[in-house]
Amino acid sequence: MLKAEATIPTIAGQSYVAAVCARLAQSDFDASAEAGRGRIALVDGLGTGTLEADDGRLHMRLESRTEQGLSVLKFLLSTQIEEVAAAEKPEVVWTGDGCDVDVLPSLREMTVLRVADVTPHVRRITLTGKDLKRFEGDSLHVRLLFPPEGVHPPEWPKPGKNGRPVWPPEDRRPAQRVYTIRRIDAAAGEMDIDFVLHAAPGIASGWAAGARAGAVIGLMGPGGREMRPAAHVLLAGDETAIPAMARILARLPAETTGQAMIEVEDEREVQDLDHPPGVILLWLFRQGREPGRNDLLVDAVMAAPLPDHDDVLCWLGAEEAIARRIRTYWREEKGLDRAKCLAVGYWKHALTVEEAA
Ligand SMILES: Cc1cc2nc3c(=O)[nH]c(=O)nc-3n(C[C@H](O)[C@H](O)[C@H](O)COP(=O)(O)OP(=O)(O)OC[C@H]3O[C@@H](n4cnc5c(N)ncnc54)[C@H](O)[C@@H]3O)c2cc1C
Repeated sequence: MLKAEATIPTIAGQSYVAAVCARLAQSDFDASAEAGRGRIALVDGLGTGTLEADDGRLHMRLESRTEQGLSVLKFLLSTQIEEVAAAEKPEVVWTGDGCDVDVLPSLREMTVLRVADVTPHVRRITLTGKDLKRFEGDSLHVRLLFPPEGVHPPEWPKPGKNGRPVWPPEDRRPAQRVYTIRRIDAAAGEMDIDFVLHAAPGIASGWAAGARAGAVIGLMGPGGREMRPAAHVLLAGDETAIPAMARILARLPAETTGQAMIEVEDEREVQDLDHPPGVILLWLFRQGREPGRNDLLVDAVMAAPLPDHDDVLCWLGAEEAIARRIRTYWREEKGLDRAKCLAVGYWKHALTVEEAA
C-alpha cells in the first residue's frame, strides 16, 4: 500500500472537512464527513483519503494500491482544500510515497510512429512510448500536450509539492486537448489516436494534419467516467466520439440490444465498427449541414425507443450545446439518473478550447 500525508495549520478545519466532502460527494465521489472527520474513496478501491481536524490543524492521510490512485488523491484533496480555504492561502505539502519524483506519474512523452487516413476526415496517428500499462484500463481518454512551435526540447509539467502539476511559463507551456485512445497495445508500446480533421483547424487537428513520423507530443491520463454495460444501450455521437463509441461497442456483451447513432458528413466517413448483432448502427449524414449546429443527433436520439425496464445505458459525445439538450432530455423528460445516462460536450461551436475555458 502506498501512503502520503499532509498537515495544514487552520482554525476552521472542521468546516473545511465538511465542505470538501460535500463537494466531492456532489461530483460522484464516495465521500462523507462527521464531526471534523471525513473520508473519501476512489472507485474500484483505487484509494482512500481521510481528513481530520483537531487542535488548529487539518491532517490528510492517503492510501492507494497504485501510483496513479495516490497522485489522483493528492491532486483532488489539494485542489479542494486550496479552494475551500482560499482565504487562508493554505500551503499543502505532501510527504510519503511518490513525493520525491520529478516526472508526473501520468505523463508520457510519445513519438509518432505511423500516420494513416481512416476516412477523408479522420487521420489515425500511431504513437509510441514507454510504460503504457496504466493507459490500458477502462478509462478511455487522454490529454494530449502540444508544445508551442520553436520550443525544443519540449517542456512538460512537473509534479508540485502539493500534488498538482507545475506548468512551464506561458511562452513555453504546451496546449492541451482531450482525445480518446482508439487502440492500445502496451506490450508493443503503441496506441492509436483518431483525429477529426475539422474545417477550422485548431492546434490539435492542425498538428495531426501535418504530423510526420518522429514528431514528439506529451500525453497525460488516462481519465473519463466509467459507464457500466447494460442490457439495452443508446449511444450517440458525432465523428469525434467514434473512437469512444467504438471501444464501448466492442466490449458490450454479445446479447446487448439497442442503437448507436453516429453523425458524419457523408457515406465516405462511415467506419467499420465491431458491435453486438442486437445493437443497430445508424449513420446520420450531414451532407453540408453545419457540424454542431444541426438537429440530426437530437432528432434521432429523441425518436429512439427506450425500453421500460431499468437496465439501460444512454451515452452521447458531441458538440456542447447538443450534449446539453440531450442531457436535459434524458434526465428531465426521461427521468434517467446519472448512472444510466451521460451526455458529454466534446467541443464547442466556433470556440477553440482556450476560448471556451
Ligand atoms: C472526452 C473527449 C474525448 C475526445 N476524443 C476525441 C477523439 O478521439 N478524436 C477527435 O478528433 N476529437 C476528440 N475530442 C474532441 C476534441 O478534443 C475537440 O474537437 C478539440 O476542440 C480539437 O482541438 P483543435 O485544436 O483541433 O481545435 P480547437 O482549437 O479547439 O478549435 C478550433 C475551431 O475548430 C472548431 N472545432 C473543434 N472541434 C470541431 C469538430 N469536431 N468539428 C467541427 N469544428 C470543430 C472549434 O469550434 C473552433 O472554431 C474529444 C473531446 C473530449 C472532451
